[in-house]
Amino acid sequence: MSDLSNKPTFGLSDPELLPGGGDFAGDGRLAVRDPASGALIAQVAISDAHGARAAVDAADTAFEGWATTLPQDRAAILHRWHALIVDAKEDLARIMVAEQGKPISEARGEIDYAASFVQFYAEEALRPNIEGVTSHLPDAEMELWREPVGVAALITPWNFPSAMITRKAAAALAAGCTVVIHPSAETPLSALALAVLAQRAGFPQGVVNTVVGDAAAIVGEWTSDKRVRALSFTGSTEVGRLLYRQSADSVKRLVMELGGHAPFIVFKGADIDRAVTEAIKAKFATSGQDCLGANRFYIQRPVYEEFCAKFAKAVEVLSLGHGMDDPDIGPLIHERAIDKQQAHVDDAVAKGARLLTGGSVDAGLGKLFYRPTVLADVPDEAAIMSEETFGPVAPLTVFDDEEEVIARANATEYGLVAYVHSLDPRRIYRLTRALQFGMVAVNRTKVTGAPIPFGGTKQSGLGREGARQGLEAFTDIKYVCRDWG
Ligand code: NAD
Repeated sequence: MSDLSNKPTFGLSDPELLPGGGDFAGDGRLAVRDPASGALIAQVAISDAHGARAAVDAADTAFEGWATTLPQDRAAILHRWHALIVDAKEDLARIMVAEQGKPISEARGEIDYAASFVQFYAEEALRPNIEGVTSHLPDAEMELWREPVGVAALITPWNFPSAMITRKAAAALAAGCTVVIHPSAETPLSALALAVLAQRAGFPQGVVNTVVGDAAAIVGEWTSDKRVRALSFTGSTEVGRLLYRQSADSVKRLVMELGGHAPFIVFKGADIDRAVTEAIKAKFATSGQDCLGANRFYIQRPVYEEFCAKFAKAVEVLSLGHGMDDPDIGPLIHERAIDKQQAHVDDAVAKGARLLTGGSVDAGLGKLFYRPTVLADVPDEAAIMSEETFGPVAPLTVFDDEEEVIARANATEYGLVAYVHSLDPRRIYRLTRALQFGMVAVNRTKVTGAPIPFGGTKQSGLGREGARQGLEAFTDIKYVCRDWG
């Protein structure tokens, strides 16, 4: 293993996309590794609580100027950032594969997705942010103004290291907020590359600050700083709860995009071949490390054996390999993730599940490659039926009627997305009404995109990202009442 110290090792056409560290960095270094091989791919200069405070100082100083920049000028800078991201797509995708491990075609898709938020919010920056109110008072004229809240802290996970940044940052910046961004320690390089492009796009000094380093120290500084008026977090429900508590004293505006435990429900009469194809996407995209990943499959009894057989056959042929070889599935992010897959499989089998395929690490490829796995007859008591697996293990179970499957699907603390396969319109209507999830996908898997409000119910989160609704947490409403009497 060699220290490559930010040399352009990924075949980049623009090596400057790999700066030596984040903003306000000190002497500390973070080692970044390729999850496929464990090889050291970069050493990044990192910050601490002092750097985190300096970032808020910079963002706070820049706030007034950015908030009062004309919307068309903010939009122009966002459009330039978008164009630069699109131009750098291949380099950004390679950086992502190197540190995150996902297959290169998925990484390219994520860059398109990431860029789409910047474009969408560049356009939203121009939309009217003043509403009139029909007056209930004599001689009074009323308006609602949407104003930027101030400095926004954006905390992002490793599984979508580019899109989770732009989904938050583009909305906050379009609204007129300045931002301090903390990416996951597993994937700082994607965040730093986006920061280089933001700088080239022309955001004024202090408007965009990217702070890499110890999460608890950096984010802890931001949650306790009263100048940080909004906090937008994507990550685990456990850390989300912690940041929610830490933000209480300064009553920050919060957006929380947390964990999920998606049910995938297939009724008799559905197109089973299509359901199998969509189930593969819903389970194995991002190597199973996706908050929208299907975590439990409920199949109606008359089609259960057919679905199990066809699904297992399709899973058996999925390829596993290094992201640059563009397999179906890449490595998982770290050993804790591997341990969790194995614990969920062992627990399910011990409780009576049948292992149809997979069930172990592919040691020939490396210690972070987990074979795509299908378990049948998994009882509801198995841990995998209630805990987020975040990996390529699919548990299947049978159900008899609609009422039963609705109750089982809703019996979770999570409520991000639910997938339903049926060709019966009345049944689809009843299901979409009854499922307690922020998003319901019917007969398809891909549902996300910049124009839709992404988010969950229950402990999957607070607020929405994307769409017009994605601006809400970054703005306050000012009610103005003028008397003409
Ligand atoms: P995580 O909660 O461990 O980390 C997320 C972020 O929080 C990272 O930037 C990390 O550095 C920071 N963090 C970690 N511990 C912290 C602490 N003590 N104090 C302050 N900050 C801290 O999550 P992860 O493992 O990076 O990501 C996986 C999780 O993210 C899964 O639960 C997944 O479902 C969720 N996720 C949700 C969405 C969504 O939109 N709902 C999208 C992607 C991922």
